[in-house]
Amino acid sequence: MPVSRSQSQPHMLSGAEIRQKFLSFYADRGHKVLPSASLIPEDPTVLLTIAGMLPFKPIFLGQRQADYERATSAQKCIRTNDIENVGRTARHHTFFEMLGNFSFGDYFKEQAIAWAWELSTQVFGLSPHQVVVSVFEEDDEAFAIWRDQIGIAAHRIIRMGAADNFWAAGPTGPCGPCSELYYDFYPEQGDEAIDLEDDSRFIEFYNLVFMQYNRDSEGTLTPLQNQNIDTGLGLERMAQILQKKPNNYETDLIFPIIQAAAAIADLDYTQADESAQVSLKVIGDHVRAVTHLIADGVKASNEERGYVLRRLIRRVVRHGRLLGIEQPFTVKVAEAAIDLMAAAYPNLKEREVAIKAELEREEKRFLETLDRGEKLLAETIAQAMATQQSQISGADAFILYDTYGFPVELTEEIAAEQGLGVDLASYQAEMAQQKARSRAAHETIDLTVQGSLDKLAEHVHSTEFLGYSASAAETQVEAVLVAGKAVEQAKTGTMVQVVLSQTPFYAESGGQIGDRGYLSGDNLLIRVEDVKKEGDIFVHFGRVERGQVGIGDRVSAQIDRACRRRAQANHTATHLLQAALKKIVDSSISQAGSLVDFDRLRFDFNCPRALTAEDLQQIEEQVNTWIAEGHQADVVILPIDDAKARGAVAMFGEKYGDEVRVIDFPGVSMELCGGTHVSNTAEIGAFKITSESGISAGVRRIEAVAGPAVLDYLNLRDQVVRELSDRFKAKPEELPERIANLQAELKSAHKAIDTLKSELAQAKSAQLVSDAKSLGDFKVLVSALEGVDAEALKGAAERLLQKLGEGAVVLGSVPEADKVSLVAAFSPAVVKKGLQAGKFIGAIAKLCGGGGGGRPNLAQAGGRQPEKLEEALAIASQQLLEALAP
Ligand code: ATP
Ligand code: MG
Repeated sequence: MPVSRSQSQPHMLSGAEIRQKFLSFYADRGHKVLPSASLIPEDPTVLLTIAGMLPFKPIFLGQRQADYERATSAQKCIRTNDIENVGRTARHHTFFEMLGNFSFGDYFKEQAIAWAWELSTQVFGLSPHQVVVSVFEEDDEAFAIWRDQIGIAAHRIIRMGAADNFWAAGPTGPCGPCSELYYDFYPEQGDEAIDLEDDSRFIEFYNLVFMQYNRDSEGTLTPLQNQNIDTGLGLERMAQILQKKPNNYETDLIFPIIQAAAAIADLDYTQADESAQVSLKVIGDHVRAVTHLIADGVKASNEERGYVLRRLIRRVVRHGRLLGIEQPFTVKVAEAAIDLMAAAYPNLKEREVAIKAELEREEKRFLETLDRGEKLLAETIAQAMATQQSQISGADAFILYDTYGFPVELTEEIAAEQGLGVDLASYQAEMAQQKARSRAAHETIDLTVQGSLDKLAEHVHSTEFLGYSASAAETQVEAVLVAGKAVEQAKTGTMVQVVLSQTPFYAESGGQIGDRGYLSGDNLLIRVEDVKKEGDIFVHFGRVERGQVGIGDRVSAQIDRACRRRAQANHTATHLLQAALKKIVDSSISQAGSLVDFDRLRFDFNCPRALTAEDLQQIEEQVNTWIAEGHQADVVILPIDDAKARGAVAMFGEKYGDEVRVIDFPGVSMELCGGTHVSNTAEIGAFKITSESGISAGVRRIEAVAGPAVLDYLNLRDQVVRELSDRFKAKPEELPERIANLQAELKSAHKAIDTLKSELAQAKSAQLVSDAKSLGDFKVLVSALEGVDAEALKGAAERLLQKLGEGAVVLGSVPEADKVSLVAAFSPAVVKKGLQAGKFIGAIAKLCGGGGGGRPNLAQAGGRQPEKLEEALAIASQQLLEALAP
């Protein structure tokens, strides 16, 4: 028989019972019960465990396979972002327990909602009338389940926006809508004005996350194959509801701690004024947090978790002072907390001694300066108020922090009690300056990658290079640099330089390029794009692709083996090239420089003469012969004198240590070298010289490719040949003949054009001859020829005069824009009549804006006004006709 609404009463349960009933409810429904994970998360991107799902994050992200599909846990959590709410709202803590049920690709929305409802109403006995739910505004499916399957009235299902009801692990990755369950303390206020933000009436106690999408980098949501459920129910909040307390603090989970503190302060909580109650609540909350933090291994410090612990302890001490407690008291309150929580968390008892020792030390340290600091702060506050300032200066806040150990948040809190703020921006600036100062004196040194890395050498050990034999290694981060400055940590997307204690990565040296590859760890991925050496320290240049990297992190370093193989092939080939040069060209040849890249090699050498094509061919053949013969490498470390005595080739002017590394291919090449090499020349496969040139007096350069790079080179060449093949429609081997044929064709075509041109000119001349005018014995021809240059014009004039016999020929043309060419050819009889070609054509040229002259029988001239040519020729014709008229 269903329970009548008016009769239903929440079941009065202790905190321990709530926890146990939650876990067994889900255990009965196939969930594996897992113990609480540590407050120190495995996920390096998160400072503290902030939710029950955190230990399962790798499963949700698909990075780890779970051997169960359903799990449930009571997870201890710390949320520092709620610290300001502690003692002030009824429901927020720094430390709290989150009860959760999880589905990894197993049950989904409908089932999760049904069980959450059953648990809340049946197991905990909440009146269905006093539960209100929220859904994500676009999640019609969840809305329908609550309304149609659970039977909640539509107006009690509140649609909320993404800020509250859409969960995501990060900007990309799994995400999805949420649905929250709220308890309504005052149902009598009616359903008309349901405002879930009103925390005097409603309290959120259970949040269900439906992980149903994957968000990609463009923000597009695609449904997940494996849909997950992640939930969280606040243990303290459920205790508040079931135990009918006005807040979480007065439940059996915390109140005994508050009472212990009140006893020390000689106070009665229920009689105390509001500010004293707030202080007692802060102590009750923070003491739970600090005992768990220390139990999980955190030590007070100024960094990260250590700073969280220090802040919490100092706030406890400070609120103790506000209650009038002058003596150390935290250990005593912690004892009460440990006794209260040990049943659920036995590790607190095990760690009791450590917890008390840390608290005692930290409290003592703080008390030593607290008096003076409080005095200073009081003076600072009085000063600020006297001068009517609204803020305490950043410098003062910094002194309080630096000298008196006042966390700035504490200064803020104390100042706020007097209505003052703190100039946080200038406080941060002071802090940054101090960090810069201490960096200069401390392990985090101010340095730039180029040049000042040697400073790092004083603080970071020289890197152990494992790369001669290994391509991967498990190692540790010694230093992280961003833009050349040492940092504690670097986030996703940052370009970083990482120093490792050991590394398989070869650092650029001896002409050989640095290795490429990856550094990876728990949710960390750095792509290494170069490695350089500063003294004995190897610096890995790369980009944090995923997660974050910090000093002390364990990482696995993995080189790109394909790149390494390429560099090795080119490096050994360089040695073989030097040996071949000595053997074939001149034994006195010595290295002047070299470059070993992934896709090519370059070798500069001192050489008395230029190399012939035949030399190059022989060298190439020799190197390829040695490659084919498969010579085994023998790498040995020898005293330098021994090495030289054996004939190892050293680089002139290079400094070597007492012990040297010798790369020996017996009978072929023996060089001092720190680079990485193939273990057998056969691994190189092939060698090809691509160019030879002189780079300065007596120094020549050979560029070549070896190993896989030869294929790249050939492919590139092949592509060119294919293109030519296509264009000339011939097989590659037919190309030379095809091109020779085309060249011959072109030549004969040119010849044909010339012939045609002269034939055309002759035809034209014949036409012109017939156009000549006869004056008695003389013939006169004046004409324009199109586009003919001065030389051709002259030839034409001479030929035409020959055909005409006695007479005069005047020709003009416009061989190019803005230019006029003119020619006059007179026969001897014409000249005898007193006409001179030179003078005549000079005068005509003047009409075209130019001039010229020449012999009496033949003369050339030019002008700049083509538009005048026609008129000028008409005048020439006129004058000739007059002069020669019989
Ligand atoms: P609120 O809005 O009340 O701060 P939340 O939305 O931050 O809650 P979730 O992140 O959904 O809460 O966490 C799941 C559950 O954990 C909550 O429903 C609540 O019961 C509990 N919880 C969250 N934060 C705290 C806290 N600071 N102290 C105690 N319980 C908390
Ligand atoms: Mg919150």
